[in-house]
Amino acid sequence: MSRIASIRAKVWNWTGPTVPPQSNFCTNASDVLHEHGDAMSSFRFHQWLTCEVEADTGEVGLGNAALAPPLVKHAIDQYYAPLIVGADPFDYAYLWEKMYRRTLAWGRKGVGMTAISAVDIAIWDLMGKLTGKPVFKLLGGRTKARIPVYYSKLYADTVEAMQAEAQQAVDAGYSAMKSRFGFGPKDGMAGMRENLKRVAALREVIGYERDLMLEAYMGWNLDYSRRMLPKLVPYEPRWLEEPVIADDLHGYAQLNAGPIPISGGEHECTLFGFRQLLDLEAVGVVQYDTNRVGGITAAQKINALAEAYQVPVIPHAGQAHNYHLTMANMNCPMSEYFPVHDIEIGNELFYYIFDGDPAAHDGFLDLSDDTPGLGISISDEHLEHFEIQE
Ligand SMILES: [Mg+2]
Repeated sequence: MSRIASIRAKVWNWTGPTVPPQSNFCTNASDVLHEHGDAMSSFRFHQWLTCEVEADTGEVGLGNAALAPPLVKHAIDQYYAPLIVGADPFDYAYLWEKMYRRTLAWGRKGVGMTAISAVDIAIWDLMGKLTGKPVFKLLGGRTKARIPVYYSKLYADTVEAMQAEAQQAVDAGYSAMKSRFGFGPKDGMAGMRENLKRVAALREVIGYERDLMLEAYMGWNLDYSRRMLPKLVPYEPRWLEEPVIADDLHGYAQLNAGPIPISGGEHECTLFGFRQLLDLEAVGVVQYDTNRVGGITAAQKINALAEAYQVPVIPHAGQAHNYHLTMANMNCPMSEYFPVHDIEIGNELFYYIFDGDPAAHDGFLDLSDDTPGLGISISDEHLEHFEIQE
C-alpha cells in the first residue's frame, strides 16, 4: 500500500505579455456596480495553482485550480494537507469527506472547495499513475471514439472581427462555438440591438447546421433576460449560459422554463449545490468545473445525479481533468475548448503551465488509453514568464 507522503501547493504568477483589456468584451457580474474601475477584474485572472500530492513510492499526482490561487495555497498548506498526509490515496471518498467535514463551517463553497478540488484532482492523477491507468479508465472508461469539442472564445468585438473569427473556427472544423455578449442592462435598448446584431452576424457566417451557444457570464439580470430571450429564439441558440448570478436559482428556473435551454453551474459546488439546481429544473445543461466543484470525486457524483434527471453535463473549461470525466460518462456529450492563444482572460494559462493537454483537430480531441493519470505534466517551456510562489 502506498501512502501520501507530502503535498505541495504552488502559485504561478504570469509575468509575460498579455493582450490589453478591451471594454465590452463580455458582460459580467460587476457591470451593475456604480464604481466601474476595472469592471473585468472578476473575470480576468493571470494566476494559477498547482497541487502536487506525492506518494511514499515517489509517484507524484498533479492537481490544479484557478480561483484565488494565493488563498487556495494557504488553505491547502494550513488546513487540508495535514488532514490527508499519511493516508492511502485510494481511500479517496473518505479523504474527500474528511476535508469537507473538517472545514464545513467555511469550506463548503469558494476558496475551501477550490482547495479540496485541487487536492482531489491530484489524488486521482496519483491513483492513475500508481495503477498505470488513465484516470478515465478508473471512472467508467471510454464512452466515445473521440470527444466532440466546441470552440469557446468569440468575445464581443466589432461585427466584422467576430465574423472573421467565426469563419476561422468553421474553417478549423468546429461544428459548435460559443460567443459572449458585450452588452447588458446598463446599455439599455441600444445595447440589446448591439447584442442581437452580433448574434445575427454570427449565424450569417456559420449557418444553422452548426451549434451556436451564447454566454452572459452573470452580467444580465432576470428582467433583462426575460426581455432578451424571445428576441434570441429565432437564432436557435443551443443554450444561454449564466444569464444571471449563480445565487439566483429561481431566476434560472424561470428562464429555463422557456424555449432556450439555460446552462450554468461553473460557479456552483458539490452534489448538494447541483441537487438544488436540478430539483428546481433550473438548468438544461450542467456545467460544473472540476477544479472548483469539489474535484473528480464530487463531479462523478453530480454526473450520476444529472443523468437521472436526463440533463447533459458539459463541464466548464477544457483541460485534462474535465476531459477525463467527459470521456468516462455517457451523459457528457461534448467538452468546451479554449483555443490556444495569447494570455488574455487567463484561462489560456493552462497551456503555458502544463504539457500534454490534448489539442483539438477538426472539432474533436482524444485521450490516450495508455498514458497513466491525467496525462499532463509541468512544462518548462514558459518558466521564464512565471513567478512561482512555493
Ligand atoms: Mg461560462
